[in-house]
Amino acid sequence: MAGRLFIISGSSGVGKGTVIKEFLKNADNIYLSVSTTTRNPREGEVHGVNYFYVNKDDFKKAVENGDFLEWAEFGGNCYGTSRSAVENTLKEGKNVLLEIEVQGAKQVKEKMPEAVTIFILPPSIEEIEKRLRGRGTETEEAIAKRLKAIEFESQEAQHYDYKVVNDLVKRAADEISKIYEKHKG
Ligand code: 5GP
Repeated sequence: MAGRLFIISGSSGVGKGTVIKEFLKNADNIYLSVSTTTRNPREGEVHGVNYFYVNKDDFKKAVENGDFLEWAEFGGNCYGTSRSAVENTLKEGKNVLLEIEVQGAKQVKEKMPEAVTIFILPPSIEEIEKRLRGRGTETEEAIAKRLKAIEFESQEAQHYDYKVVNDLVKRAADEISKIYEKHKG
């Protein structure tokens, strides 16, 4: 039996990376897809682990080749999901998790309506701003851009199958585990 595709989106600074890590610790047979991006690695990020980091020309070539299941521009950079990696993993009967933004999620849901979509919401917008500034890796301009995207993204939450509020990492991860157990292939 083929695996099932799960998509998690959430506003930047909502701590979705931490929630996803916690969820994956206890989940079996699910694999996090490694995206390709044109943005620069943040400190501690590793090529092939967090992302495949490429330049704009190579990203464009991959788009033209049809290498991406979906791709989108976000905060001035491009991000894309490898079509072959996702398809091959699903074929092997493994479940796949995409951690992508809303435009990409929409593209995938249109092509694969059986995909289960989850949106992680922050407790409040003030909380996100605090977390983004606390991270200390973004310029003021980048933060302003991200806050604007968050407003837009939160409105998009209504199109997702499930909405999970990240009030506490463990609780939010448990809620995702329950959704996963219900739908996994
Ligand atoms: P970051 O630069 O903070 O790692 O990611 C910025 C945004 O891009 C996040 O919302 C993340 O979920 C999203 N993202 C990461 N990879 C992909 C991808 O392959 N496709 C799309 N559409 N969004 C992605």
